[in-house]
Amino acid sequence: MNRNDYPFWAGRAIRWGADYLAGMRGRRVRARLASPGATVADVPPAPPERPEPMETIWADFERIVPPGLTHWQHPRFFAYFPANAAPASMVAEHLIAVMAINPVLWQTSPVATDLEGRMVRWLAHALGLGPHFTGVLHDTASMATFSAVLTMRERATGFAANAAGLDRRLRIYASAQTHSSVDKAVAMAGIGRDNLVRVAADAAWGMIPEALDAAIAADAAAGRVPAGLVLCVGGTGIGASDPITACLEVAKARGLYTHVDAAWAGAAMICPGERAHWRGIDGAESVTVNPHKWLGAQFDCSVQFLADPEDQIRALAVRPDYLHTPAPKNGEGADDGGESIGRIVDYSEWTPQLGRRFRALKLWFVLRAYGLEGLRERIRNHIRWTRDLAAKVAAEDGFELVTPPMFALFTFRLLRPGMDGGAETDALNRRLIEAINDDGRIYLTQTVHEGKFVLRFSVGQWDTEEADIAFAWDVIREVAAGLE
Ligand code: PLP
Repeated sequence: MNRNDYPFWAGRAIRWGADYLAGMRGRRVRARLASPGATVADVPPAPPERPEPMETIWADFERIVPPGLTHWQHPRFFAYFPANAAPASMVAEHLIAVMAINPVLWQTSPVATDLEGRMVRWLAHALGLGPHFTGVLHDTASMATFSAVLTMRERATGFAANAAGLDRRLRIYASAQTHSSVDKAVAMAGIGRDNLVRVAADAAWGMIPEALDAAIAADAAAGRVPAGLVLCVGGTGIGASDPITACLEVAKARGLYTHVDAAWAGAAMICPGERAHWRGIDGAESVTVNPHKWLGAQFDCSVQFLADPEDQIRALAVRPDYLHTPAPKNGEGADDGGESIGRIVDYSEWTPQLGRRFRALKLWFVLRAYGLEGLRERIRNHIRWTRDLAAKVAAEDGFELVTPPMFALFTFRLLRPGMDGGAETDALNRRLIEAINDDGRIYLTQTVHEGKFVLRFSVGQWDTEEADIAFAWDVIREVAAGLE
């Protein structure tokens, strides 16, 4: 295939995509699970020595790939958290693929950096964050959290650990509900998972500020170095949130750097009515939100808001000669309304990795194509439908609503007379989720909450309608009724 063939094949890909999306409700959601590797049984073990015709490659794509997919853009995908791809984002993603730039430095595509700064501000405005926040786009929230933890490490060691390594025992504090990306970040930063302190939670599964204060004090008294606090808004398991204002107050009084993981639920903050869940957020040093989960800007697109980026840049920037950026001819950066006036921003200095994608274009397309009102309406609907279904589950004989709806997530389980709610009930619910996902009409995932195996019901796929929720509830009851 050469450049002249590109319009034909790109056109074919777009037509295939349109058909794929249009026929989605007719597909099973989760792939049929065979043995690992079975999907590529017909893919040779080594690449071809000679070019192959695109027709052959295309035919193999159609034969091999769709049957092995779990369809994340299926309106009956209620598993994990959504990974939305709004149509406007798909168009932008296509343009990104064609331009194939690497805005590693400002000069390597000034508009990509300038637009990134502007989109971070647009998002901050959309979510009701204070005007002091600037920030950067990452691939994932894991990378945003890793960056924040590296900054915690450097600040706590007087910016010495990058060069000298760690010479003291640092401590990072988080609630039990924080995502496993925090465990990974602490391990990758060389702090050690044993130094991630899980602080006790209250009855609503939020961190207890007094317990945080006591944990920090005990560590300091024992000669350890408290370095940072990671809070969560909309945790992955059940959607719980920490009390932001009170926990930040404790952290600030103790001199800790603070990061808030709102990877999923942050998107809901475009609705002013949801903002009570992160009241006090303007006091955080770093906040991450994934537009690629619930805002329609498809994977990958994660924003990290920073109250002051200097500490993170100091922790992460490396400036070899070959990356030096000369000042623009007029000696000034663009006057962009506050985000980077008068200075060149090289975003690769804000992140662990060097190379980067032009993610801002997706946000620009999505935020304009749907407008904040359009995005709010979708999220409000998801939250309302989730509450309505949770109420039905709570009222249904034989089902237990285990955790209440938080944003657009609740957990539940099936109960059977004579079962004690322990291991036997867990086994019953394991069979239930397997049966639901083998059935294929909807897709759910599970977690273990306070020792109970529970099913998560998470609403948020872009095309989901209220009728899909009703359909899902019918499927759940039908499959449950047929369970041995
Ligand atoms: N934080 C929370 C609360 C999440 O739910 C997730 C993923 O679901 C993550 C972080 C990690 O997100 P990512 O895949 O963008 O690293």
